[in-house]
Amino acid sequence: MIDRKAFRSLSSGLYLITSHVGDRKMGCVVNTFLQVASEPPTVTVSLNKENATTAAILETGRYAATVLSQDAPMELIGTFGFHTSADTDKFAACEYSVDSADIPYVTAHGLAHFSVRVTETIDVGTHYLFVGTVEESEVLGTGDPLTYAYYHAVKGGKTPAKAASYNPEGDPENSAAAVPAAADAAAPEAPAAGKRVAWRCMICGYVEEGYPDGLPEDFVCPICGAPRDMFERIEI
Ligand code: FE
Repeated sequence: MIDRKAFRSLSSGLYLITSHVGDRKMGCVVNTFLQVASEPPTVTVSLNKENATTAAILETGRYAATVLSQDAPMELIGTFGFHTSADTDKFAACEYSVDSADIPYVTAHGLAHFSVRVTETIDVGTHYLFVGTVEESEVLGTGDPLTYAYYHAVKGGKTPAKAASYNPEGDPENSAAAVPAAADAAAPEAPAAGKRVAWRCMICGYVEEGYPDGLPEDFVCPICGAPRDMFERIEI
């Protein structure tokens, strides 16, 4: 038998994996980056086959990894974890640099950066496992690394569907939480005729309906965990 709950006891960190295709920079969030040998310094990372970043790594044979700090804002994680590089410039609002092989890497809220040349690509079902040699590494900052457990427990983060650790049977952390009735003191604005008010998460694009007067104070995005002030009012 496979008990999906068993997988939740595995510990890991959170990392930004970045690469490029021509002048288009790609990136995503993973919890699957890992050192697997010391000499040569070897790391692995698995990425969903559907990720734009995966296509970039397959093309360039290179990627960079940024180890996220515990203070990394949900906006940064949401931008890289819940959007696609195919239609979003994820680097537009964050500090980054490029390595000697011209691979971009995020420096903001990073503790360290690794530049990796892929030596082997293994098909593991939904994901490719990239085995690679570290060609550059540097310390970017001090602090505690962001663990996946901290992301879930303290930051209220969720697991995107394309993550290696995503549970297709559903996790409590990923189910839409029951939310209290609207309690916003601001005067509600009437929607245009024939329209109704909804709220869109500016991080992941999730749309919440049913709160014409404003989202409850403690509302968080059920998809990416963004707080209420990351939602914009829309009419649909
Ligand atoms: Fe969201």
